[in-house]
Amino acid sequence: MNFIEHYNFKNKKVLIRVDFNVPLNSDFQITDDSRITAALPTIRKVLQDGGSAILMSHLGRPKEGPADKFSLRHLMDHLSTLLNLKVRFAEDCIGDQASKLAQELNPGDVLLLENLRFYKEEEKGDRNFAEKLAKLGDFYVNDAFGTAHRAHASTAIIADFFKGHKCFGYIMAKEIENADKVMKSPQRPFTAIVGGAKVSDKILIIENLLQVADHIIIGGGMTYTFIKAMGGKIGNSLFEEERVQLTREILSRAKEKGVQIHLPTDSVAADKFANDARTANTSSDDIEEGYMGLDIGEKAIEDFRKVILESKTILWNGPMGVFEMSSFENGTKQIALALAEATRSGSFTLIGGGDSAAAISKFNLTGDVSYVSTGGGALLEYFEGKELPGIKAIND
Ligand code: AMP
Repeated sequence: MNFIEHYNFKNKKVLIRVDFNVPLNSDFQITDDSRITAALPTIRKVLQDGGSAILMSHLGRPKEGPADKFSLRHLMDHLSTLLNLKVRFAEDCIGDQASKLAQELNPGDVLLLENLRFYKEEEKGDRNFAEKLAKLGDFYVNDAFGTAHRAHASTAIIADFFKGHKCFGYIMAKEIENADKVMKSPQRPFTAIVGGAKVSDKILIIENLLQVADHIIIGGGMTYTFIKAMGGKIGNSLFEEERVQLTREILSRAKEKGVQIHLPTDSVAADKFANDARTANTSSDDIEEGYMGLDIGEKAIEDFRKVILESKTILWNGPMGVFEMSSFENGTKQIALALAEATRSGSFTLIGGGDSAAAISKFNLTGDVSYVSTGGGALLEYFEGKELPGIKAIND
């Protein structure tokens, strides 16, 4: 892997694409700085080698050019505190001021550029814009896994201007290494747990997992399209009519390939989509009209737990039920606990995608699994088997 550890940055001006897309409150205070702290090892490595760092990132989704609300200036003080130095700021990510500030950098200095997405050229992957950014530095490091699935100017196109002078930062390297541990060289048995709301969102992942997994556990709202495709009664549960055929194909392909698909035998059914709904534990294929399955049931938890504890590699994406409501969180919580238990017994457990990461954090189990990925969409595309532009650009 083209990894930051293999380079020395003495006297180099290093352009680092970071993901500083942090949440801010109405006073522009950072409410969760984990994306910034995650990038510190890469920044510190450059500085400790005797180089200077030019940081570039997006923040939020500015629609029409510059807007104070999306300014990276709001991150300056906190970043300066974390790095224990005075970070400089370029009010425009390209142009004369940015060039001058970049030229003036001495070893150990850090320059933060204004929001890249103030230019629509960033998301368009504009080559001229990428070239202007590239001129600011003499080495390129990509450490923004969260945007690695986008062919934006700063995440992919820019790498063309740094042949032989580009690499992955620590976050990127760790994400790739862990995702590969699951998808390319899993210790077997390998179980993938796929949950969440809809079949349509996860179909490509499930199809790709059929090539590598030994077991696929299915939970969450998508369960019911599978159950109905098999002839079950699902009441008012989430259902995607247009995916019925596809779910049948998945089931038959799994059979051909010897992949075991596990669906929840029972469900917690509710008479409305609300925490105070009347609930009943029912067989997942016999849900009454007027009721909808909002969590997996006790028997399903037991079945899934058994498969999980017998696995050596486990990937989890998507909750088992509507875990945001306490009445329907138990399935997701028990699966998270089973993953923690499997990790303690030496299995490799990777949690990826926004909602499963949020769930594991809700149950305070983030530190009890092997790895929680930071990249929602990027990780999902990786699991779908796609080549991510941000990764390809460094490898080319
Ligand atoms: P996703 O983003 O596809 O991983 O879906 C996550 C969302 O699916 C969460 O907000 C859950 O509340 C929701 N969800 C999980 N299980 C169900 C279910 N049985 N019925 C409806 N929504 C569900």
